[in-house]
Amino acid sequence: MAARRFGAIEAGGTKFVCAVGSSPQDLSVAERIPTTDPEETMAKVTAYFREEVLRSGPLHAIGIASFGPAGVRPGAADWGRILKTPKRGWSQTSLVQPLTAAFGVPLGFDTDVNGAALAEYRWGAARDCNIATYVTVGTGIGGGTTVNGRAIHGLRHPEVGHFLPRRHPDDVAFEGTCPFHGDCLEGLASGPAIAERWGASLSHLPQNHIAHEMIAYYLGQLVVALQAVLSPRRIVFGGGVSNTPGLLDRVAHAAKDLGNGYFGDAADVDALVVAPGIGQQSGLLGALHLAEKAWQRASSNT
Ligand code: ZN
Repeated sequence: MAARRFGAIEAGGTKFVCAVGSSPQDLSVAERIPTTDPEETMAKVTAYFREEVLRSGPLHAIGIASFGPAGVRPGAADWGRILKTPKRGWSQTSLVQPLTAAFGVPLGFDTDVNGAALAEYRWGAARDCNIATYVTVGTGIGGGTTVNGRAIHGLRHPEVGHFLPRRHPDDVAFEGTCPFHGDCLEGLASGPAIAERWGASLSHLPQNHIAHEMIAYYLGQLVVALQAVLSPRRIVFGGGVSNTPGLLDRVAHAAKDLGNGYFGDAADVDALVVAPGIGQQSGLLGALHLAEKAWQRASSNT
């Protein structure tokens, strides 16, 4: 059988990263398309895949790992759509419709963090972990959890970034940046919340700056909350803020303090909090995985 070819799209708030391939090993050099208005962005995405089809032959399926909130329930009217978002023009935009119209192939769709969680489970730092969570800490904070290799969806997709943490004792004046909740986790510990408080990114603040301790205190609470609710075997921290040197050690340390030995010993927490196994690629590889699953589902239905 000839190799299958899949389209993969990591649809982000600032750029859409597109690639074609059958596995992580042969994924093409990714095309980066700036996220402008929906029509222009989707036209460029479609044009990229059209060119790929003309050059190297048809695609078997396309996978999209999208920024959220997004409709992820297969069969629901809002499946494949961006839901209500402050990002201008994008509320109710369907990402799947233009691609279905152009290529007529099966489409896989999920959030970017669910995609990343699936890719980390399959190829990265969460292999063989029956329950694992991927958390991104960057412009926003989000997370996806896989159970036996499937991403959790409920009524909607989980939104760990909007969990409500306990305030750090020295962080009482700042109101938080979340337009919905003010001082939820994203409102206190995302990149914009850090920049607004201290005028710099975490990695540009000296290691002895209290910002490091505070952000670790908040992310440590997320670790404890996940331990309490899901008992994951791995929590993979990706995103720009997570790359800050020393941060994940501080997060593990904070989680140990806050958990106070209840969820296992110190070594358990050290093994729990890890960096991505596939670097910055987890979103795009998640989209590749979603494409392959969509193709398998379609093939088994025929
Ligand atoms: Zn919030």
